[in-house]
Amino acid sequence: MCLTIPAQVRKVQGDKIFVEQSDRKIIEIWNPDPDRKVKIKSGDWVLYFNGFFQQKIEENDAHEILDMLGMMLDEQNPEVSPKFKKTIDKARHGDLKRKDIIYLLNSNGSEKEFLLSQANELRKKYIKEFICIHGIIEFSNHCQNDCFYCGLRADNSKLTRYRMDTNEIIETAKKAVKERGYKLLVLQSGEDYFYTDKMLAEIVSGIKKECRVFIFISIGERDIETYRKLKKAGASGVLIRFETSNPILFKKMHPYGKDHERRLETIKSLKGLGYFVASGSISGLPGQTVRDLADDLLTIKELKVNMISMGPFVSCDNTPLAKNKSGDIDMSLKMISVARFLMPKVRIPVVTALETLDPKRGRKRAFEAGANALMINLTPKEHRRKYKIYPGRFFEKEGSIFERYGLNLTDESYKMLEKRIREEIQ
Ligand code: SAH
Repeated sequence: MCLTIPAQVRKVQGDKIFVEQSDRKIIEIWNPDPDRKVKIKSGDWVLYFNGFFQQKIEENDAHEILDMLGMMLDEQNPEVSPKFKKTIDKARHGDLKRKDIIYLLNSNGSEKEFLLSQANELRKKYIKEFICIHGIIEFSNHCQNDCFYCGLRADNSKLTRYRMDTNEIIETAKKAVKERGYKLLVLQSGEDYFYTDKMLAEIVSGIKKECRVFIFISIGERDIETYRKLKKAGASGVLIRFETSNPILFKKMHPYGKDHERRLETIKSLKGLGYFVASGSISGLPGQTVRDLADDLLTIKELKVNMISMGPFVSCDNTPLAKNKSGDIDMSLKMISVARFLMPKVRIPVVTALETLDPKRGRKRAFEAGANALMINLTPKEHRRKYKIYPGRFFEKEGSIFERYGLNLTDESYKMLEKRIREEIQ
């Protein structure tokens, strides 16, 4: 479920393999296979974890991954003002104040590039060997809410609605885990009370019974009792955004139904229940200021989320914001970078909204700005288009380079994730 950074073999001595890491350091790794079925020689490219050889990787693929992760960028000496350099230094020491964050978010040109590359350096330093690959299954597009930005809103009568039944959800999850090697799945839906607590618990425990996988749920603001039951049924995490830290903007975007304070309280309670919590905001909503975005980042830090889920607004037809412009990609990238400085070890997935706005380069740019995870859409084909929170959602074909090298069917990678999640919840 995690892609490790490729390295090139420099020397092989029995079961010892000497590889050159991306920072040019030569380290020694072990080949755990006593029969040495896979022949490894100097010049080969390999993936390794915790000092152990995992698998060989084609040279072209190794270069593609290194390039995608910005591992081959040379140290640059960009033109930045002394004030900007000083603020980056402050960021490195973890003491950014709101005014510093606003200053960084307002950067452009070479200063913006410097911010992004410095955040990438930090990612490399703290979580160098990992790009985590998660899957998401969107099991219902029914929603009782009327969020202004979202195409699933109850008021949207143009949307064809669907619901997957318990069996279909379990089977979809099973396929993702057993055939494709996913170890962490997010089950997401609109806020749909058709699924009772009992049904949701059956879905979670049904999947857990069949496969070794971490389950995160993303079903909106259900009762805390619901979440307690789902934890008992085997769920490990919850993905729930606070959407914006500005209560006035929140009210404008959700005039009825949702309540800002209650949503924040729910998020805090979920942490209290021992869930791994993924949260964040949308950037580029109409009326939102850079100061609001700075406060979003500070809220993320204050909530001590375990995974940051934030991305740009994408304008959606048949919503009250249909005529508004989508969010700015560069601002989303700067948000990722500042988040990386605020929480150096946190998981930051590249979100689909960013890939939708920039399908060619969005993912690469997000990695180069400090992101370290992917969320791959696994919703069955026949439903995918109908989960239209916004139009033209980015979707990747099965068998990408990340799936090929980042997922494997061994139990070892589940254990690896188990250890990490345990550490990250503490
Ligand atoms: N019902 C769940 C899941 C909602 S959809 C919940 O309430 O948490 C997941 C996320 O998609 C939302 O939290 C919102 O932040 C995001 N989203 C919805 N519409 C969007 C749009 N038009 N552009 C960008 N993000 C959007």
